[in-house]
Amino acid sequence: MLKKYQQQTLAIELLKRHARVKIVHQVTGIPIKPLRQTYRQLHGRSPTPGSIKFSTRGLTGSRRKYKDVTLFAVCYRVAASKLADDQIQAVITAFDAYKHSYPFGNLDFSAAWVVSEDIKDKKVQVSICPHCRAWVLLNAREDLVERCGVCNNYL
Ligand SMILES: [Zn+2]
Repeated sequence: MLKKYQQQTLAIELLKRHARVKIVHQVTGIPIKPLRQTYRQLHGRSPTPGSIKFSTRGLTGSRRKYKDVTLFAVCYRVAASKLADDQIQAVITAFDAYKHSYPFGNLDFSAAWVVSEDIKDKKVQVSICPHCRAWVLLNAREDLVERCGVCNNYL
């Protein structure tokens, strides 16, 4: 009973942040249909159809996007170190911190979730540029050319 309540509360927290219904289903186990209905109640429109990007590399197509992903990754790393055994709560905390710190950032919640999975699985790594000391994200670019998002030097 309590577990169910917790899952429902979590689903609402995720849907409020426009998480994809598929992701919410995966995380909470709640069926797709009631999740879609809840999304409509919260936002007054149907959830956006379409597929979710599968990897961080698909999200870093431009310099600006790479920067957005890197900023979220830094927020996630901090949140994950405090909430080590609760990944989804770490994503929510990191996403809120990202939105708060960078109100013009374009990364949506579902993309943030994909990035957090890749960090957790160590497919991408947060590091520091040796030239300008800015945060960089390694192994995150589609062309695999490692460049700093700030000073543009090769890493
Ligand atoms: Zn740099």
